[in-house]
Amino acid sequence: MMPSPTIKKPFDITAIREQFPVLSREVKGRSLVYFDNAATSQKPQQVIDALVNYYTTYNANIHRGIHTLAEEATAAFEETRDAVQEFIHASAREEIIFTRGTTESINLVAYTWGRQNIKSGDEIIISTMEHHSNIVPWQILCEEKGAILRVIPINDKGELLMDEYSKLLNSRTKLVSIVHASNALGTINPVRQIIEEAHSAGAVVLVDGAQSTVHLDIDVQEMDCDFFAFSAHKLYGPTGTGILYGKKRLLESMPVFLGGGEMIREVTFAKTTYNDLPYKFEAGTPNIADVIAFKTALQFIEDTGKEKIRKHEHELLEYATKQLEEIPGLRIIGSAREKVSVISFIVDNTHPQDIGILLDNRGIAVRTGHHCAEPLMQRFGIPGTIRASFAVYNTKDEVDELAIGLHKAIKMLS
Ligand code: PLP
Repeated sequence: MMPSPTIKKPFDITAIREQFPVLSREVKGRSLVYFDNAATSQKPQQVIDALVNYYTTYNANIHRGIHTLAEEATAAFEETRDAVQEFIHASAREEIIFTRGTTESINLVAYTWGRQNIKSGDEIIISTMEHHSNIVPWQILCEEKGAILRVIPINDKGELLMDEYSKLLNSRTKLVSIVHASNALGTINPVRQIIEEAHSAGAVVLVDGAQSTVHLDIDVQEMDCDFFAFSAHKLYGPTGTGILYGKKRLLESMPVFLGGGEMIREVTFAKTTYNDLPYKFEAGTPNIADVIAFKTALQFIEDTGKEKIRKHEHELLEYATKQLEEIPGLRIIGSAREKVSVISFIVDNTHPQDIGILLDNRGIAVRTGHHCAEPLMQRFGIPGTIRASFAVYNTKDEVDELAIGLHKAIKMLS
């Protein structure tokens, strides 16, 4: 996907913010400060327009129709597949499977590749900082097959203990499923090294890219992961749409996931044969509108420039870290050397939820709780954190608002 030459311009935060209509709304009588981007990002007008345009002008089911609307919808849907392929540098468009999101992508692998390849006594390695969606599918599989789940420990900064990882790998390790960037800590994991070591041990690797894909350059070929999962809604795209990337050779060898229309070649009551990739894994009518609009979200990122976005978000992270470190009684959870723009913290003698409510009263949206990473919270001995996560449209003024809000909240609660 080439950046649009007409839109390519210097990083202009005002122009960027103007593209996101929700940012001009008020919450509790104050300008919205949206710092819950790790949960889901806001959507630019062009993504909303792409959804409306589909429903207004060419709504039709895809792949099966020969009429004009069906052909237009099919072409737009398949264009997103090409855009995703380019965005993550996959070697073939057949390697891009549309799902409902990261969760479904991981489950797809667990229910197909997992059921085919994991036997009693086999081992699956995950890490302490996994989201529940990269824990529970493997627990279900391990229970069913009598396999064993191994967990890479972390240090107090929230970094993987790579020596411990190396020790966990052995000839029984069949899969390593690892988060690229932690949603709760911000830690960026050394996936290249993890994959290399796993491959040397003969294991397959799935990378959970739910948080990394919006912040980092993703090149699945260079990374050499076997599977890569992410969700459109965290990349300024619509909800209900996600991607599973898999190496073609693996996808081809895997049994089908859901059965139904579209994933078949021929059905008789005696026997069904299955469709080619990627349709083999896309049973039923997909989320057509949202997949189509996702292309516009990717285009927004390309046009803004990933490098510029990363620089801006990194500056916000550094600025916020400094501001928050100065607040008495506040402790940042997660201080890894390499982080995406996520900052998690707790405040002495206060519950994260109380702080979250008081911030919301000032129009500041943060997330509080365990962030679907309960084992990670247990590792730190805390019930949860307050999490501020930054996106392309956030500003230092908003970080100042957060700092002021925190000072006031802490004063009220003490
Ligand atoms: N993995 C990580 C690291 C996440 O942060 C999330 C969502 O927050 C998920 C997986 C699940 O994503 P989804 O709910 O879009 O399926």
